[in-house]
Amino acid sequence: MFSGVYMHIPFCRSRCSYCDFATDVYKNGEAVDRYVSALAKEIENFSAEKTIDTIYFGGGTPSLLAPKQLEKIFDSVRKNFSVTENSEITMEMNPATVALETLKAYKSLGVNRASFGAQTFDDTELKRLGRRHTAADVRETIELLRKADFENVSFDLIAGLPRQTLEDWERNLDEALKLKPEHLSLYLLEIHEATPLAEQIRSGRQPSPDENLAAEMYELMLEKVSAKGYEQYEISNFCLPNFQSKHNSKYWTLDAVFGFGCSAHSFDGKNKRWANERDTLKYVELVEKTHSPIVQTDKIAAASEFVFLGLRLTKGIDLQIYKNRFEVDLRKQYAEDLQRLAEFGLIEFDENCLKLTEKGMIYSNEVFAVFV
Ligand code: SF4
Repeated sequence: MFSGVYMHIPFCRSRCSYCDFATDVYKNGEAVDRYVSALAKEIENFSAEKTIDTIYFGGGTPSLLAPKQLEKIFDSVRKNFSVTENSEITMEMNPATVALETLKAYKSLGVNRASFGAQTFDDTELKRLGRRHTAADVRETIELLRKADFENVSFDLIAGLPRQTLEDWERNLDEALKLKPEHLSLYLLEIHEATPLAEQIRSGRQPSPDENLAAEMYELMLEKVSAKGYEQYEISNFCLPNFQSKHNSKYWTLDAVFGFGCSAHSFDGKNKRWANERDTLKYVELVEKTHSPIVQTDKIAAASEFVFLGLRLTKGIDLQIYKNRFEVDLRKQYAEDLQRLAEFGLIEFDENCLKLTEKGMIYSNEVFAVFV
């Protein structure tokens, strides 16, 4: 199994009300140039001699990078890693940030998968979320990507937005499916403490999320996407046959992913994780002064992570692999908990496999808590 590389690009045109990612408001190309130089330097300082088959540009809004900046990053990746010929190379984008010429340039540099945040097809909801694009921009982005020959396109939608009804959600799903992306990420809204949206809910300006409605939305989503030929392979991820995200799958199967840039996390595929400085400027200064940007290193509790990450996948976890890897029979180790979760209808298992049921996917946090 080959490794993956993640690169964090922490710039956005503005900040969305629900966002808690490490990202700054884009000021000028110079700040981005400085960041790109630091990123390239960090990659070149990393001596792993690994073969990789996925590269992922996440953010932030990586599509704010000029092709020249992207090229510089690619050069450093290719100098330091052996990149397989058919690697999956994904770039996250935001609608209304990309022109056709830029997309063509990204494609010629090797990007072959695009993933962007549509979030909703309702312009009022988009405004409420602080998104800068409209539903028309989403449709145009897909059109531009197709014109630039992108054959692997994914976008995200969020269910359970404040004031969103089941009918609104159904309209969103219909709109999304009309665009025929190869991959869809459909998330239930999560409220993060330090965000403007959390404050709006605390002060009563927005209603609190309704768990029962969210469960209905989840069920409707499973029904509608499978009727159009999408298979679910993870709690929130759906694709046409053979279009699973290879990169994201590495996180769920505990394969090695090396992260670069501020706030990036890495895992060596065995038992070591490390995380970079979150603040953009501090990260840049550390790398410029030839200091390590790593601020945290952990030995992971590999067995429990193997379980709760693997359970995100619809195929669940292979109990034989668990036994070989950790030398213990999981069904005996967690006998009482498994019995209880099965009685609640949240999991199902036999001697080979343990997986979440459809209900378990809705209440997955309750299941994961058992293994943390
Ligand atoms: S575009 Fe994405 S990363 Fe940027 S502020 Fe909005 S949610 Fe956060």
